[in-house]
Amino acid sequence: MKGKGNTCEYCSGQGYFQLLLGGSETCNGCDGSGKAGEKS
Ligand SMILES: [Zn+2]
Repeated sequence: MKGKGNTCEYCSGQGYFQLLLGGSETCNGCDGSGKAGEKS
């Protein structure tokens, strides 16, 4: 589903990236929150 709410576009709202080698890495776009926060 494609929504432009508060969902982070980098990690699709998951808050992290799934690594192919295993494990996960915290998304830098939302700092792990999964939400597209507006930095002010
Ligand atoms: Zn993110």
